[in-house]
Amino acid sequence: MPGYNSPMPIQILPDEVASQIAAGEVIERPASVVKELVENALDAGATAIEVRIQGAGQRLVEVSDDGAGIPASELPLAVARHATSKLRAAADLFNIGTLGFRGEALASIGSVARLTITSRPPYAESGARILVEGGKIGSLQAVGAPPGTQVRVEDLFFNVPARRKFLKSERTEARLIDELLTRYALAYPHVRFSLSQDGRTAMQTSGSGERREILAALYGAELARQMLAVDFREDDLSLSGFISPTSLTRSNRKEITFYVNGRPVQDIALSTALIQAYHTLLMVGRYPLAMLFIAMPAGEVDVNVHPTKAEVRFQERERIFSLVQRAVKRALLAYTPVPDLGFAAGWRPSQESQQPSLDWGLAHDDLAHDELALPSPQPDDALVPAQPAPREFPGMPLLRPVGQIAAAYLVAEGPDGLYLIDQHAAHERVLFERFMAQRGEDVPSQALLEPFTVELPPAAARLIEGQLDTLSELGFRVEAFGRSTFLVRAVPALLAGMDPASALRVLVEDFEEDETPLQGQVEARIVARVCKRAAVKAGHLLNPDEQRALIGDLERCQSPRTCPHGRPTMIHLSVDLLERQFGRRGAR
Ligand code: ADP
Ligand code: MG
Repeated sequence: MPGYNSPMPIQILPDEVASQIAAGEVIERPASVVKELVENALDAGATAIEVRIQGAGQRLVEVSDDGAGIPASELPLAVARHATSKLRAAADLFNIGTLGFRGEALASIGSVARLTITSRPPYAESGARILVEGGKIGSLQAVGAPPGTQVRVEDLFFNVPARRKFLKSERTEARLIDELLTRYALAYPHVRFSLSQDGRTAMQTSGSGERREILAALYGAELARQMLAVDFREDDLSLSGFISPTSLTRSNRKEITFYVNGRPVQDIALSTALIQAYHTLLMVGRYPLAMLFIAMPAGEVDVNVHPTKAEVRFQERERIFSLVQRAVKRALLAYTPVPDLGFAAGWRPSQESQQPSLDWGLAHDDLAHDELALPSPQPDDALVPAQPAPREFPGMPLLRPVGQIAAAYLVAEGPDGLYLIDQHAAHERVLFERFMAQRGEDVPSQALLEPFTVELPPAAARLIEGQLDTLSELGFRVEAFGRSTFLVRAVPALLAGMDPASALRVLVEDFEEDETPLQGQVEARIVARVCKRAAVKAGHLLNPDEQRALIGDLERCQSPRTCPHGRPTMIHLSVDLLERQFGRRGAR
């Protein structure tokens, strides 16, 4: 029996096991394979990189480049561990000008997949091919091949079932690959990138060197037009790229990417510096979009702190952060009109109607909420429409409206004490149930005078594409129109008046992390989003009639106590609790 009582003798691990362990650090998922292969192609000086994916990368990742190639004699070395052409001595580690240097990627991939490399340096007469399967290196074969390198990775993790279990849905894995390639395409505007997923072109760049053009290809022309250019130089440091104007934000940091010497990095401190530069210009819980490229002497940044090289260590942290802040502030000042403080403070003047607030571009107050709601304990349950409850069970006591406080909460009296109702959450719940009930039959829809064209990033486009039927049940009429472009012909009447582009975009924004295998849940999430947009916002004064109507509508809901995202719609202070708090009972 293994365990501490009867220890096994110490043994050197068999090679196969050792390399699988090492591989685990570098190759976590199909996107890691793509990353390593694309970096190799870039290091080889490729001007065109073609990525073909099947089965979200689990069945096939194939990367072809027109770079320097690998001489036949070196192919067996290329797939051996700790074999690299990019580093000679330990001292070089602190002055790395290439993306790769650990000499681990190909060996790692070869130990957890079926790897085929075909390569020909431009000067060689013919090409050569080598196969590696589960770590076993096959023999070398001469083959005809175009100059450059093609790496095929099939059946990733075929011999590591445990790894396979940790992969997310195909859609998520495919999206991670999209996002990854998008990052590299932006970082290397002179390189022509293409990505095909299951035979379908998912993205393509021209290699023209024009970053804004790439931004347009990847994120849509409208977004590319709005982004502000950053171009800042100071001694041996420079910062260039794009940031969003204050009017263009997201509810998470996912669209913030920093690159250090052409390498996308994750660095919380860098994004914090960026966000601080926007100080007070953004609502709480809103984040800018940014693609910022830092160029600095290779010797001043340590890239060897993380197996996937996603993290870096700067020699002069403070200097870099201050550079980011100053550069971003300057770009914002140069372009941004004086902010409207009324809206920056999140407090909108009263409006005497219960009409859904249509200027949701400004009324962001609910979004801060949303961030809080993310780790909600029962998001999925909350979204799945509840089983029809027996009519006699209202789920909520009959309430007498007392008033409104902070233009955000309704105060009501019930049979057992005081109820505080979050007007936005409550309205969301009401709309959600109304939508779910009407769905498919007669959701009122409003046709647009002119169909509206919306371009979405590839991942978002794919998501929408899979939901066209759902959208039509909700009163949207949306048609695919080219690769990542859609025609919006009608929107739900509830959303009439909103900019159709944002109405559509918001349905998929932040969807990425969601793992929603069931169509019903995706649908419910989309409905929840529509409702969130349409629901009355905090900061809206409601007159007594409106208060009564909202409370009445909530009482008729099947699950009145939570909003569609699972947050409570109301807080109950029982008479008993009040008495205790006032020391009338219990204490003594
Ligand atoms: P690293 O990139 O850290 O050196 P890899 O395992 O990724 O390690 O690659 C090993 C070696 O194989 C590289 O150093 C390089 O010489 C060669 N190589 C890999 N991919 C390519 C490619 N696409 N074109 C040319 N050479 C390549
Ligand atoms: Mg490499």
